[in-house]
Amino acid sequence: MAGVLVFVELAGSEPRGVALETLGAAAHVAGTLGEVTALVIGHECHAVAERIGQYGPSRVLVVDDPAFAAPVAGPYARALEAAVAATEPALVLLPATTLGRDIAPIVATRLGAPHLVECMSLTVEDQTITVTRPVYQGKLLTTVTAPRDTVVFATVRAGAFKAPTPDEAKQATIERMTVTLDAADQRAAVTGLAPKGRGGTALESAPIVVVGGRGIGGPQGFALLEELAAALGGAVGCTRAVSDLGWRPHDEQIGQTGKQVSPKLYLGVGVSGAVQHTVGMRGAEVVVAINRDPNAPLVQMADFAIVADYNEIVPRLTKRLQELREAAGKA
Ligand SMILES: Cc1cc2nc3c(=O)[nH]c(=O)nc-3n(C[C@H](O)[C@H](O)[C@H](O)COP(=O)(O)OP(=O)(O)OC[C@H]3O[C@@H](n4cnc5c(N)ncnc54)[C@H](O)[C@@H]3O)c2cc1C
Repeated sequence: MAGVLVFVELAGSEPRGVALETLGAAAHVAGTLGEVTALVIGHECHAVAERIGQYGPSRVLVVDDPAFAAPVAGPYARALEAAVAATEPALVLLPATTLGRDIAPIVATRLGAPHLVECMSLTVEDQTITVTRPVYQGKLLTTVTAPRDTVVFATVRAGAFKAPTPDEAKQATIERMTVTLDAADQRAAVTGLAPKGRGGTALESAPIVVVGGRGIGGPQGFALLEELAAALGGAVGCTRAVSDLGWRPHDEQIGQTGKQVSPKLYLGVGVSGAVQHTVGMRGAEVVVAINRDPNAPLVQMADFAIVADYNEIVPRLTKRLQELREAAGKA
């Protein structure tokens, strides 16, 4: 057993951001465990597999078959199990997405292997693999250790590791893998996919996220944030207080019981910065807060803060950004 196998989950024809971060986690321990192999599963995914090769793995295993067009746990778990058999890794890393959380325990249980969940850090020693993970609704971090006498499975939390910078000069070996499914693997099938109905940039992959909290005062106030997000080329998110009030849909909620984001810029407007929220945006590179309260936790943790009523600041900010965009367009 040596090396790291990483399941690089796709969203359509692109790798998920957290899947690339999982490759970053693998790079972190490759010096001790050995070469990194990426596993790409889907249909007509050869081109994306080649791009994934630029993110550091030395091999990319590709399961490219119509049977894997939809991300269903049964077939994907069987493909992961086949990749583990083919590569005999010391560690298998998966992103802590719905699919990663589904298939990691299935395969770990089949193989009688330990499974570490929601990892935020990863250390390898002679005899053990140690991770930290949040507990008690994100209020504490706990340290969990698994012995290295068998393969170890771990899911990696979004925002915990940095995605490697792609390098076009890096060429991984691309190997096609065939996986045989039995009837039990195919008990569930996707019969159709429905769009969510809203346009805009996907929250999880948006480089800029404008988040509104209860301080926005009502659903109408979010029109200002939509305009600001459009001027910045970003997506709108919200806190749980907002989604619980029905001001915005639940799928825009960021935090412990919502989505994990790690944008280049997080702009929190009327957001207090409760730990259950900030655990979902810890990976943001730059944090800006607009809040009336100078003592709000988000103001305290922000790289830049504007202490003011958002009604005064946001329209001016949007106008200035639109002017700058227009001027750049004319130049
Ligand atoms: C088990 C559990 C899970 C949870 N999961 C999540 C989660 O996933 N995500 C999440 O977000 N929360 C979660 N919460 C809730 C979390 O604890 C907070 O209650 C919530 O994040 C607060 O939302 P908020 O910042 O919008 O509201 P508030 O805490 O009410 O903050 C509003 C802020 O707006 C400011 N403000 C008011 N008016 C203005 C104005 N005109 N201009 C500028 N600023 C203004 C105020 O100063 C204040 O700081 C969870 C809680 C529990 C118990």
